[in-house]
Amino acid sequence: DQSLEQADPELFDIIEHEKCRQWGGIELIASENFTSRAVMDCLGSCLTNKYSEGLPGKRYYGGNEYIDQVESLCQRRALAAFNLDAQAWGVNVQPYSGSPANFEVYTALLNPHDRIMGLALPSGGHLTHGYYTAKKKLSASSIFFESLPYQLDMATGRIDYDALETQAKLFLPKILICGASAYPRDYDYARLRKIATDIGAYLMADIAHFSGLVSSNVLSNPFEYCDVVTTTTHKTMRGPRSAIIFFKKELEDRINGAVFPALQGGPHNNNIAGVATQLRELATEEYKEYARQVVKNSRALADELISLGYTLVSNGTDNHLMLWDLRPQGLTGNKFEKVCDAVRITLNKNSVPGDTSALTPGGVRVGTPAMTTRGLNEDNFKTVAHFLHRAIQISLEIQEATGKKLNDFLAAIPENEKIKALKQEVF
Ligand code: PLP
Repeated sequence: DQSLEQADPELFDIIEHEKCRQWGGIELIASENFTSRAVMDCLGSCLTNKYSEGLPGKRYYGGNEYIDQVESLCQRRALAAFNLDAQAWGVNVQPYSGSPANFEVYTALLNPHDRIMGLALPSGGHLTHGYYTAKKKLSASSIFFESLPYQLDMATGRIDYDALETQAKLFLPKILICGASAYPRDYDYARLRKIATDIGAYLMADIAHFSGLVSSNVLSNPFEYCDVVTTTTHKTMRGPRSAIIFFKKELEDRINGAVFPALQGGPHNNNIAGVATQLRELATEEYKEYARQVVKNSRALADELISLGYTLVSNGTDNHLMLWDLRPQGLTGNKFEKVCDAVRITLNKNSVPGDTSALTPGGVRVGTPAMTTRGLNEDNFKTVAHFLHRAIQISLEIQEATGKKLNDFLAAIPENEKIKALKQEVF
């Protein structure tokens, strides 16, 4: 009956430090957020003790009368949050997280080595959309399926729908995937639907990043056009770490069977409860106001960075994030990320169109969901732009003070050719 503090002070202390870190700086990682006390209460509840393989009313274990109620409530709220008709759409709330959810969709709809097409990772797509490099198939989505990613138009920083269409008509994927992890613009779902229909493919949207904005009608609605929609629940949605798969009713048995028994065992009922209470919050006017503010803040930050002379991919944003191209400043994303860490601003390095090195991407991704939860408005985000501006100046000063001198000094020390080549790429 001891609290964590009493039972394990060493671990308690680490978590307290992480809490201080999270609340003690400017959190700009586009995929992160601060979830509520109510969600945390669900995560730490007795629901974590229960096994409940199967679906509500059809379980492989006894004692599931309350678990059934939790999961059914979560399903109903999920459909309601996205305004979906239960006759036409089904939902599975059991996926442990976004990556398994996507693989579950592929398992349901594809045979091994069938083809998929999603946005390339260096263009902002996610690993699970079929990513591989010239050297290696890194993601299970490219190991078990054949993938041909589509790209951005390098000039505009937007998806090149014409090239996508040409490529799709040659490659004939069975699933066309849209949605991304680092794309600052909305999607042309009508065009994607037409392409998918022309080639007889399923259209899948992975709205992990921006599902909270979709449910609040701040972005266009993929459900009008897609066969399957997946989302994580911990990004703009602000819930616990989990995921949801929405599917057209006729795919119900295949999707449910892919989640369990094909890929998962017992559902994480404490997470499902956390998702359920977060979906209740999504339906409130307060949350919708939050979603609108996320985008207003994103635009305010983007405008201020542009007026300070910086370059954003596609010259702005429609959603909760922007991609900042640091190549005009002569900085890499790695360096800027480190300097920001040192001044308590958290963001992440990210590739930008035209990057030549995956090791040292030329930009960073910046998002507003977390700090909007903490109450920041457009004026506050203009101030954030000036903190970032200062961090750029510091980065340039560090580069100026150490870069050349150190490189000249090290150049005099003999080293092998491979290391020399790597250093040239990285520094
Ligand atoms: N899909 C997209 C678009 C994502 O951005 C992410 C995570 O960043 C995922 C899927 C995977 O989610 P998870 O990290 O929960 O596996």
